[in-house]
Amino acid sequence: MNARRISKTIKIGDVAIGGGAPIVVQSMTKTDTRNAQATIDQIKELQDCGCELVRVAVPDAEAAGAIVDIKKGIRIPLVADIHFDYRLALQSLEAGADGLRLNPGNIGEADKVKKVAMAARERGVPIRIGLNAGSLPKTDNPRLGVADRMVNSALEQIRLLESLDFDLIKVSMKAFDVPTTIEAYQDIADKIPYPLHIGITEAGTPRTGVIRSTVGIGTLLWLGIGDTIRVSLTAHPREEVIAAYEILKSLNLRQRGPVLVSCPTCGRTEADVVKLAEAVEQRLLKIDKPIRVAVMGCVVNGPGEARDADVGIACGKGKGVIFKKGKKIATVEEKDFLEALMKEVEGF
Ligand code: SF4
Repeated sequence: MNARRISKTIKIGDVAIGGGAPIVVQSMTKTDTRNAQATIDQIKELQDCGCELVRVAVPDAEAAGAIVDIKKGIRIPLVADIHFDYRLALQSLEAGADGLRLNPGNIGEADKVKKVAMAARERGVPIRIGLNAGSLPKTDNPRLGVADRMVNSALEQIRLLESLDFDLIKVSMKAFDVPTTIEAYQDIADKIPYPLHIGITEAGTPRTGVIRSTVGIGTLLWLGIGDTIRVSLTAHPREEVIAAYEILKSLNLRQRGPVLVSCPTCGRTEADVVKLAEAVEQRLLKIDKPIRVAVMGCVVNGPGEARDADVGIACGKGKGVIFKKGKKIATVEEKDFLEALMKEVEGF
């Protein structure tokens, strides 16, 4: 894996981004922001599964005003997502937003951008320049590819903020196309000192979206690029946070909660290992400690993996063997597989 690109550090609320800080996991609410209670409830669910930063859509003044109440009910920093109307950015700052995500290019005249930049600077609030491939400004040069156009547009907007003496900047340039996204981030990584928010936009449902996101985000992280990540899924945002941590855990970049090792099952399997692994996975979601748990389907290859885990089970016909720290500690009946394993996990 490449050494991590070291950017400037910015702080959104009390969360540091870039400069070697741990890669931050973020998500976005899918509630109507104007409904403060529903939004708080969803953010609490996200907090519980480890989300460190949350973004809310601010489509109108009522949504901007709701930020005051939302902030009272949550403990992670909040980023207001603004399009087009600079007044919504100013209102969101007034209401206590810890960060803004906007596209200076679609805010309009320079004096409007200036007002937002000044108000954000006064409060020490960073702005993410968030570009999407689908909403790039028109270009006069038809030979430029999408990645080049995203980079050029991002650089233009960075220069605009810098000219206003604003440098609390974070940048994202997302496309649905994974190679385009990787190319754009690779290109800009050496050109700017600011932290990068990475992700694949409109990635899809969990089945396909997690794969697209993992390939895109995982490749960039492997290249040392990325300071905060969002996995965009057509699903409850909890799924985004879970997927983000799995990506980071698989590259040993962050550790949070358990790692589940489970065998694919095969013709040797003599118990319902798929059902057991799914049930264990559900129960592990509520556990914070970094523990390696193995669910294996036979007594041929199973004991090896089960022994290597902190806690594991090798399932045989009607009976299974529980291992803890490499030692066989019990033989249990099939009906007790789940509870016996979870008792050891919870007490580990
Ligand atoms: S651990 Fe056993 S049951 Fe599972 S895939 Fe390997 S051989 Fe098959």
